[in-house]
Amino acid sequence: MSRPEDVDCVVVGAGVVGLACARALALAGREVLVLEACDAIGTGTSSRNSEVIHAGIYYTPGSLKARLCVQGRALLYAYAKERGIGHQRCGKLLVATSGDQVAQLQGIIDKARENGVADLVLMSREQAQALEPQLACVAAIHSPGTGIIDSHALMLALQGDLEHQGGMVVKNTTVVPVEYTQSAIKLITMDGMELLAKTVINASGLSAVAWAKQFKGIRLDSLPTPYFCKGNYFTLAGKSPFSRLIYPVPQAAGLGVHLTLDLGGQAKFGPDVQWVDGPEDLAVDSRRGDAFYAEVRKYWPALQDGALAPGYAGMRPKINAPHESAADFMIHGEASHGIPGLVNLFGIESPGLTSALAIGEYVAQRV
Ligand SMILES: Cc1cc2nc3c(=O)[nH]c(=O)nc-3n(C[C@H](O)[C@H](O)[C@H](O)COP(=O)(O)OP(=O)(O)OC[C@H]3O[C@@H](n4cnc5c(N)ncnc54)[C@H](O)[C@@H]3O)c2cc1C
Repeated sequence: MSRPEDVDCVVVGAGVVGLACARALALAGREVLVLEACDAIGTGTSSRNSEVIHAGIYYTPGSLKARLCVQGRALLYAYAKERGIGHQRCGKLLVATSGDQVAQLQGIIDKARENGVADLVLMSREQAQALEPQLACVAAIHSPGTGIIDSHALMLALQGDLEHQGGMVVKNTTVVPVEYTQSAIKLITMDGMELLAKTVINASGLSAVAWAKQFKGIRLDSLPTPYFCKGNYFTLAGKSPFSRLIYPVPQAAGLGVHLTLDLGGQAKFGPDVQWVDGPEDLAVDSRRGDAFYAEVRKYWPALQDGALAPGYAGMRPKINAPHESAADFMIHGEASHGIPGLVNLFGIESPGLTSALAIGEYVAQRV
């Protein structure tokens, strides 16, 4: 076999997080190669989400999710503006649809304030309906800082910045880890090319834990157990009844079946919560529609029978079991797993899109 190729940094996976890490490393002067298994960038979870720029409301104060979401949101709005990436600060209403949920709203406002999100406004039913006349609720929170973004345009801009700095994305290239040797990390691609990299960022999303497990010598007790939780969407035929995003109060594994808009003003509902055994099956079972009608009618009673059609599904890369509370992002370096130069990104579920630029900076500062 020929001598392994020496490279400075390899990023495994060209989703939004891998690309943001690659861009940040390239801007810091590193030579970066992104290896992507598929034939295009961003075909994984990064193209199967709600495209919402989250404000940073729900997450445990001090957690990586809370910090990186709030930082990431500010970076993302600035970057989208600078690079002409389609986005809209449309705002969102988080609605209590029963009396017992009203008490939760104040708790959400308090938690958000601890996270540095101080612009939430508690509204009566009348105030919320003045903004969105078709809305049914008992009370609501208005979040003016929530928005939506064209995630594919974002990823293209990140790739453009990377390439401008001399970095490269190589598609159709599945790469697996081998071991730490000769002061570098040895990787091998499916077609047999060996690489020796000083830094490797494992941003392989749904397969990140399985990927790391193959690394000879990695501390196995540093690796979380992966779980998969599918989120199905149903699309709404016709014009959206709302001009802001509408969210119920959050549920255990997700944020509840919410209404989001795309930049063309089309509405969709989801994602729901469906724990599954593996990440492969992304088909939407039309029978799940019944539960959507029931959930959506709690805040939009005028939803007509037959108005929803199965849309698409995304898969949450979970690192907590169904009965456990949501885990934080897990960003592990040598101190955790024992391999110099390797950073593992585990459990990068929502708000991963919002946080991507901040995750990129966080990772680049640590390698
Ligand atoms: C239903 C749902 C809704 C969401 N909504 C939002 C939202 O509204 N706002 C928000 O902020 N976040 C949201 N998120 C979270 C967000 O989508 C993710 O956090 C983000 O897309 C993760 O990006 P990633 O780059 O880590 O992973 P991915 O996009 O999954 O990218 C990983 C890439 O690695 C590649 N890969 C895997 N293995 C290998 C290998 N061995 N070699 C080479 N390449 C490999 C894959 O092909 C893939 O392209 C949502 C997530 C879900 C599931």
